[in-house]
Formats: sequence, C-alpha cells, structure tokens
Amino acid sequence: MIKWKCTVCGYIHTGDEPPDECPMCGAEKSEFVEIAVAEDITPELEDEVSEEVGDNNAERISLFDKLVDLMLQNHLHPISVHTPNGIVPAAVLFLVLAYIFQLSSFELAAYYNLVFVLLAMPVVLFTGIVEWQKHYKGARTSVFITKITCGTVVLVSLLVLVLWRIADPEVAAPASSSRWIYFLIHIIALGAVGLAGHLGGKLVFGRSRK
Ligand code: FE
Repeated sequence: MIKWKCTVCGYIHTGDEPPDECPMCGAEKSEFVEIAVAEDITPELEDEVSEEVGDNNAERISLFDKLVDLMLQNHLHPISVHTPNGIVPAAVLFLVLAYIFQLSSFELAAYYNLVFVLLAMPVVLFTGIVEWQKHYKGARTSVFITKITCGTVVLVSLLVLVLWRIADPEVAAPASSSRWIYFLIHIIALGAVGLAGHLGGKLVFGRSRK
C-alpha cells in the first residue's frame, strides 16, 4: 500500500492509486503525490524559500506581507468565522421567538446581532480568501467554489436584511406583509453559514487524518 498526499489540502490517502477526487477538497487525481516524493520535495522548497528571504533585506518584506503571515500563523479565518457561525443562528432563534411570542425586544436583539455579524464579514471573507490562496493554492474545486458562494450569499443576505430593517423598522412587526420574506432571507443566510462551516470543518479536521 502506498500513501498519497493531496497537494491542495494535505489529505493522506492509502492505496495502490490516488483517489479520482480528494474527498476533503475535491482536488483532481493529478494533485496527489506519493508521500515519499512529497517529503523529498518539501525540504527543498523550504530551502529555496529561505534563501530567497535571506537575499532580501528585512525591510523589503512589506508590512502587508507580515500581517498576512501573522494572520495565517494565528488562524484568523477559523477564529473569525465563529462570528457568523455562532451569531447568525442566535439571530434566527431570537427572530423565531419574536414571531411566536410577539416580542419586539427579541426582534431588536436579532437585528443587532445581524449588524454585528455584518461588521465582521469583511474580516471573515478577506482572511478566507488569503487562506485559500496561501494554504490551498487557490484551487478552484467544488469545495472552495461552494465556500466562496456561501460567503457571498451570507454577505448579500445580511446587507439586504440590515438595510431593509434601517429603511423599515417595522418590517418584522406582526402587521407587516413582508415579515415572512424578511424571515426567509434569515433562513438563506443560516443555510449558507452552516454549509460553509461544515465544509471548512471538513478541510481543517480532514487534513490531520493520517
Ligand atoms: Fe485535498
């Protein structure tokens, strides 16, 4: 039995041949390398990189690159995604309670939660794109395309909801004819957050599988 490593996400496959598609990130068969080969290549690459860095003066590494490195080292994307993943479900729950018990204070709580998530979204999306480019070679497999689509759906849904609520503070009130459309957009955002989180978890935790 040979061990094969996905060069996109690091997933390890054991078998005579690599799988047709990586079960973690969806990368093609051609992205797999035999693990002995992968381990031979990696130190060389690291040497090349360190030589390049050595040639450059420390000042020539831009502040932006330093911040990006710091961001990746400290896993800012998995940390920041806890904001939409944790707070969007809370907002939906508050809204459901507000609708059932006709509590305007819960509706207001749901709205404030959404505002907070919307403010965090630029960090979530930016760190996600950097991580995709740096750790996953910007691979355009179904997993990453789905994650990016989900991120966009969440951003657009939140923008629509927050702007709608600003324009019409009574949109979720019992008398409002639009309250169910307003609610449905929450459900769309919740679905997108859940799917992106599920795929992210698969990528992060699948990688450590040996
Ligand atoms: Fe993979």
